[in-house]
Amino acid sequence: MSGQTPPTLQKRARQTQLRDEALAISPLENVPAVYIPWLFQEAFAGRHNSLIKTMVAAWPFQYLPVGSLINMHNLETLQALLDGVDRRLTRKFPPGRPKLQVLDMRNVHHVFWNIGSDANDSDSDAETLDEKQVVKALPRYALRQRLKIIVDLSISSQLNEEKAYFLNWAKQRKGSINFCCTKMKIWDAPDKVIREIMNVFHPEHITELELYTDWTLLRLAHFAPYFGQMKNLEKVFLAPLHKNTSPIMNITGASKVKCIKKIISQFSKFNCLQHVFMKRVHFLRDHLHQILGCLRTPLQTLSITHCLISQTDLDSFSCCHNLFKLKNLEIRGVTLFALDLMPLRGLLGKLAGTLKSLDFQWCSMKDSQLIVLLPALSQCSQLNQINFYSNDFSMAILKDLLQHTATWSKMNVEQYPVPLECYDALGHVSRERFVELCQELMDTLRAKREPKSISFATNVCQNCGKTCVYGQGARLCSCLQ
Ligand SMILES: [Zn+2]
Repeated sequence: MSGQTPPTLQKRARQTQLRDEALAISPLENVPAVYIPWLFQEAFAGRHNSLIKTMVAAWPFQYLPVGSLINMHNLETLQALLDGVDRRLTRKFPPGRPKLQVLDMRNVHHVFWNIGSDANDSDSDAETLDEKQVVKALPRYALRQRLKIIVDLSISSQLNEEKAYFLNWAKQRKGSINFCCTKMKIWDAPDKVIREIMNVFHPEHITELELYTDWTLLRLAHFAPYFGQMKNLEKVFLAPLHKNTSPIMNITGASKVKCIKKIISQFSKFNCLQHVFMKRVHFLRDHLHQILGCLRTPLQTLSITHCLISQTDLDSFSCCHNLFKLKNLEIRGVTLFALDLMPLRGLLGKLAGTLKSLDFQWCSMKDSQLIVLLPALSQCSQLNQINFYSNDFSMAILKDLLQHTATWSKMNVEQYPVPLECYDALGHVSRERFVELCQELMDTLRAKREPKSISFATNVCQNCGKTCVYGQGARLCSCLQ
């Protein structure tokens, strides 16, 4: 005896399958169902494209999640997969036998493949599994008649070869396959490409949209009807840096208002919107309150970054019921120093039992404004993250704030600006005052509760572009070292 372990059942099956790909379809139908997912992973790992094609065509289950297996930068593998789908569409199956109904190309690992790895671990256990157990892991939506293909798409003007191939393939089959895109990212892409994609992947399936464009208001308005059709949108990220650089592209005041109205009115069409992120949305000023007023569902996240907002916008915060269940509120890079923050205090008062993270970085708030927010802030007992970096607070008000945070028992990460007293008349940081005052603030807080992660930071140094941060000790900018 050589002492070698005899080949396990799955190893024998693997050898049989991979040795003769041309005959794979015959043994595939005789292989116990529990080994098929494992064999399929092996075929992908070894880039056995002919076997991939054959296995997809003969796939005996209703669901096939290939997103974690397929490399979208390998055209041959993608072609093999899609050729297999084409073959599957024309193939006749015996009555009652499961057949592929959902091809999931999203890049997420699925529990489906865990069954295969369990089978790898133990032959004896694997032999007791049968096809019913594999099918149990399938989502309910697998029970459909027409083949459905689910993808996440990132669209730009420069589509790589594989993506262009896939989209062209999909376009030609939109009558025979249900195409469904759940997450869509749009970088700057021509209208024609977007129109074609929306014709194949109906907008109502999109649950997450990220729009990173430099579109003008006019182009955004052209896109608005597609946006409005995304009725099942849960999360939207808008960062349109529209730039009217050409005088020809400039539009009149009346047209501008019309375009903005068209874009904003779409927000009244979303049935399950929960997370809204808006970054550098330059037309937002004086219109944010209109967007908030349009919402049909309570938000969990509102993030406004590097936008201008008006007092009218801010006033709507305290009376917009769809903000009263926020878990995350982010107002970053929004200049607040000239605004009355009472409406924000009103909102924070409503969020005492729900708000988990609060971000007011780069808002140029002053002492008088923090004093307004303080009574409501101190009641937000669920907060686990707060960021006040880059605001202009004195030592006295920072101390006052920290003394009123005894209820913040869930706080994990807290970030504050250093007090104004750390700077000299020219705005330079004094190393001694920085260390001394930050330590004093730290002691003030520790008298109330024990922080987990806390830091005090200066504004960005005008000379070296870095900040001084006081947390676990002091880290100075390059000039002060
Ligand atoms: Zn410096």
